Amino acid sequence: MNNIDVDLLARENVRRLVPYSSARQDYAGPASVRLDANENPYDAAANGLNRYPDPLQRGVKERLAELRGVGPERILLGNGSDEVLDFLFRAFCRPGIDRVLFFTPAYGMYRVLAGVNDVEVCAVPSDRDFLPDVEAALPLLKESTMKLTILCSPNNPVGNLIPRDRLERILHAASGLVVLDEAYIDFAPGESLLPELDRYPNLVVVQTFSKGWGLAGARLGAAFAAPEIVRILNRIRPPYNINALTQNLLPEYLGRHEEVRNRIETIIKERERLADTLQRIPCVLHVHPSRANFLLVRFRRADAVYHALLERGIVVRNMAHGVEGCLRITVGTAEENRLLAEALAPL
Ligand SMILES: *Cc1c(COP(=O)(O)O)cnc(C)c1O
Repeated sequence: MNNIDVDLLARENVRRLVPYSSARQDYAGPASVRLDANENPYDAAANGLNRYPDPLQRGVKERLAELRGVGPERILLGNGSDEVLDFLFRAFCRPGIDRVLFFTPAYGMYRVLAGVNDVEVCAVPSDRDFLPDVEAALPLLKESTMKLTILCSPNNPVGNLIPRDRLERILHAASGLVVLDEAYIDFAPGESLLPELDRYPNLVVVQTFSKGWGLAGARLGAAFAAPEIVRILNRIRPPYNINALTQNLLPEYLGRHEEVRNRIETIIKERERLADTLQRIPCVLHVHPSRANFLLVRFRRADAVYHALLERGIVVRNMAHGVEGCLRITVGTAEENRLLAEALAPL
């Protein structure tokens, strides 16, 4: 499906909505006396935090545009990518009418966001290789109420990549938007679909600074999509959703991508070493190959292993409600990974 009318996909109330115009948007020019936004005139923390942040988030967007090779008019920023995903639900899915599709096991927030927005979920089980079962999804993808199809590559909780041909089949078949969650893409460089954005008017690539960039506490995520899609999402975006601390920090930090790259390389090496170590431990049944910064590991008696680790102060993610018998283990520092292996060895 290559000719979509994004305006028709969006909810009618969003199309009709007059977006909130903040004081900073009404008049964005230079001024020496600012009495327009009911701010406090005293800079108590001495770093300009008494003023509202730039609602257009220009500094971050310009640097991000350079970094990703995507024009700023194709970028929407969110308070974490979870907020970006929520905007997509709210702008495109009519509560109680429209639906979303994703393949299970999946990142838990997709279902939560659907619940919050009263949107029905079509959960299609992944195939035996934990990849989207395109054949099973095909008739559903084509339905006009299927507003969002959410894919995740590298996938959470498994860590595998979705092959390009499957992504393309889904993009061609879907009558709604295809949201590709690339939260872990910095660990699989060269695999992003971002360079193909122009080819797919229904593609929304979602990325985050929480994982590879190491900024989970700053809460910054982004959607990359056609300008028409970004315009619609901007209609419902609160004007100050990216705080001043994050907006001030990011432009300089984005320039340090060499350093970030090196840390990612270290994590990838540690992941491979940890996978190797785990495979030799008796209670480990299988380590799923991963392109992300975590390993999905099948254990003999996963629940008991989970609690035994907790007793030693080591917390991993119990996947009992997603992938039976598995724990999801984030790759830590060499020392943290050593402590984990040491704790697992006698179990
Ligand atoms: C961690 C994660 C996110 C959320 O990232 P934030 O930007 O921190 O909100 C989104 N999707 C997946 C698959 C994740 O694992």
